[in-house]
Amino acid sequence: LNYTIAFIGLGNMGGPMAANLLKAQAKVKVFDLVPGAVAELKSQGATAANSAIDAVDGADIVISMLPAGKHVQSLYLGDSERATAGLMDVLGKNTLVIDSSTIDAATSIAVGTALSEKGIRFLDAPVSGGTAGAAAGTLTFIVGGEEAAYQSALPVLQAMGKNIFHAGQNGAGQIAKICNNMLLSVLMLGTSEALQMAIDNGLDPKVMSDIMLQSSGRNWTLELYNPCPDVMPNVPSSNDYKGGFMVDLMRKDLGLALDTALKSHSSTPMGAMAQNLYNMHSMQGNGQRDFSSIFELFSAQKPK
Ligand code: NAD
Repeated sequence: LNYTIAFIGLGNMGGPMAANLLKAQAKVKVFDLVPGAVAELKSQGATAANSAIDAVDGADIVISMLPAGKHVQSLYLGDSERATAGLMDVLGKNTLVIDSSTIDAATSIAVGTALSEKGIRFLDAPVSGGTAGAAAGTLTFIVGGEEAAYQSALPVLQAMGKNIFHAGQNGAGQIAKICNNMLLSVLMLGTSEALQMAIDNGLDPKVMSDIMLQSSGRNWTLELYNPCPDVMPNVPSSNDYKGGFMVDLMRKDLGLALDTALKSHSSTPMGAMAQNLYNMHSMQGNGQRDFSSIFELFSAQKPK
């Protein structure tokens, strides 16, 4: 990749994503509030920056991978309370900005609009595939923004991901991502309750899973992420629900989904139920465990 790329936010996802850009021979300048995260990427060949403004100096492309909407907003638009400048005041015209954080569509659109008024191109490009996908370079990118900007971003996204989709205009990537994750939460719950009912009635969960996989209940959780312990090897349920996708991240995405539904007057009773059950599960001390641990909500209640 013959680009200079600024990468901001080197956490569980951003760190390995930036590492894949280095492997693709891009010149990568990195910044994170955590100095250790910057040092790790520096050891892999990146240039360490001591601020976001320093990182974007001379960059053709800026990628951000931050926790939530408020971080993305203050990075690009500045923070009046803390009197910090935003990148919108320093980025050159025609810079391509790709925000891969999962945030609310309204913030993404506000940032995209402010940047495009300055001639800076902006894409929302949230990802699916988790930390394993980030490390392996097999993420799915779900992109919102102008077609021309999307085409320019493709080679860079392909260095970090396998499946790249253009969902529509700015904000559409975020909407598509949370619609998918809302469905995933519902599938995880439905699969869990069906498996536990089978177990309660004397069936083997492996046999039940095989039956549903070849029947009309088939879905992604049965294919790749069975929530019942010891049905599948190498999934979080067979490792005390460690690793994978945390309950609290699913809660965050369900919060974004339900906020969206409120704004668009959409009926999402299943999503609302899933949000309630995931909140309850988190409050019982499971926030840091994998989201398939929701299975225990059903398995804990053995019949008399
Ligand atoms: P993380 O908390 O591990 O990393 C976020 C990083 O951003 C941290 O290192 C933090 O120090 C840094 N940061 C925060 N504010 C900053 C600022 N102003 N300037 C520079 N750095 C700053 O989070 P993560 O797991 O990498 O997730 C990032 C995003 O990706 C989130 O929106 C999350 O919802 C989404 N996501 C995560 C997963 C997953 O499995 N972890 C999967 C898909 C999508």
